[in-house]
Amino acid sequence: MKLLIVGPQAAGKGTQAKLISEKYDIPHISTGDMFRSAAEQGTEAGLKAKEEYWGQGKLVPDEVTNQLLYDRIQQDDCKNGFVLDGFPRNIPQAEYLDGITSIDKVISLELSDEEAIKRISGRRTCKGCSEIYNITSNPPKQENICDKCDNELYQRDDDKPDAVKLRLQTYHDQTEPILEHYKDKVVKVDASKSIEEVSEAVFKELN
Ligand SMILES: [Zn+2]
Repeated sequence: MKLLIVGPQAAGKGTQAKLISEKYDIPHISTGDMFRSAAEQGTEAGLKAKEEYWGQGKLVPDEVTNQLLYDRIQQDDCKNGFVLDGFPRNIPQAEYLDGITSIDKVISLELSDEEAIKRISGRRTCKGCSEIYNITSNPPKQENICDKCDNELYQRDDDKPDAVKLRLQTYHDQTEPILEHYKDKVVKVDASKSIEEVSEAVFKELN
């Protein structure tokens, strides 16, 4: 089963992809992990991506990302399929993917901008050990203090509402059109519910 999981930030893509991966015994391929492991393995595209782009905080161009994706899905563990998380992020990447394989289903985790902003702006990160909390869904025992190392928690610039709005806009402009591109294969799941409820809805669609 070859799957894509699509949704805005904070919709729970990584969590749901991991649960799908365990249930169906197919690898969860996130773009971030793919970049890191290709660089560790020292492939040509992997080293280029790290040295010239993400290692310097720059966006990896489609051409390099596509090559890494191609290399990754040729690996043995992908023979029964995979779940892609973070790829394709735009129409040109979707068109590239269609040229090298055929996707069975696209899971769209639906979350309003309002809820995404609420979830992300509640995030707090520990200054000491980088543990992540959420003031509503996963608060520390003592307000603003890390349970693990007693250091103070703070809000990362990336988690502030304006930064989140900017990323949501990029999602709407660039990534959302792939749902129209794959329209007959898309299954929509309400991602505002609990992890268990979302996962149950996803499995129901896949079975
Ligand atoms: Zn800590």
